[in-house]
Amino acid sequence: MRVKFKIYRYQPEVREEPYFDTFEFDAEPTDRILDGLNHIRWQLDGTLVLRRSCQHGICGSDAMRINGVNRLACKVLIGDVGARITIEPLMGFNVIKDLVVDMDDFFDQYRSVLPYMITEQPPPEAERLQSPAEQEVYDDTTKCILCAACTTACPSFWSNRDFVGPAAIVQAHRFIFDSRDEGTDERLEVLGERDGVWRCRTIFNCTEACPRDIKITRAIGEVKKAIALKGA
Ligand code: SF4
Repeated sequence: MRVKFKIYRYQPEVREEPYFDTFEFDAEPTDRILDGLNHIRWQLDGTLVLRRSCQHGICGSDAMRINGVNRLACKVLIGDVGARITIEPLMGFNVIKDLVVDMDDFFDQYRSVLPYMITEQPPPEAERLQSPAEQEVYDDTTKCILCAACTTACPSFWSNRDFVGPAAIVQAHRFIFDSRDEGTDERLEVLGERDGVWRCRTIFNCTEACPRDIKITRAIGEVKKAIALKGA
C-alpha cells in the first residue's frame, strides 16, 4: 500500500518554528508505524529524530501521538490506522527535537513518590515472601513501563504541569499496596499534597492511552481512598 506520513518536525538549529514534513512510500499493512519511521530515517531523511530502543513494547521509549492518539510506534500496525498517518510528539512536554521530548520533569515526579521498596526488616536469606492473594492486590500496576502515554494524555496535566500525573501514581500504587513495604505513609503524604492525586478529575484518558492496559483510573481511585482513610 502507498502511505503518507505527515510528521511534526522541530529542528531549532535549522528553523525556529516547528513545521510538518510529509513522506510518501510503499509499505505493507503489517508493517508497524516504527518500521515506517525507520524507513524514513534510513532511506529518505536521516535528520529525523525519535526515540526507540527495544522495539517490542517493553522499553516504552517510542510513545508518540499517532493520528492524535498516544500509542507506542512499535505496537501499531500501519494497516490498522490507514494510509494517511500523522505523527506528533507527546503533548505537555517541551520538544527537544522532532519527536523527542524532554522527560526530566516526568522522571522527577516519578522519583517524588519513592518508587522502591522501603522496609526496616533485615534482608532474608532468600526472597521476601508474600501470598498470591497479597501479590494480586498490586499486580496490575507492576506492568508499567514508564512510557508517559498516560500522563501526556491527561487534561489535568496539560493545564498544570506540577500535577504528579497518572504514571507516578501508578508507580506509587505498586508499592503502597505491597504487603512487604513500609513506606506507605510517606508516599500518601506526597500524593495527598496540592499537586497529588486530588488533581485527577477521573477523565479516563490515561486508562485509554495505556499500552499495557493498566486500569489506571481504578489505581488512582484506590490511592485516593487510602489517603481518605488515613485522614479519617
Ligand atoms: S501506566 Fe501505562 S501509560 Fe502510564 S507510563 Fe505506565 S505503561 Fe505507560
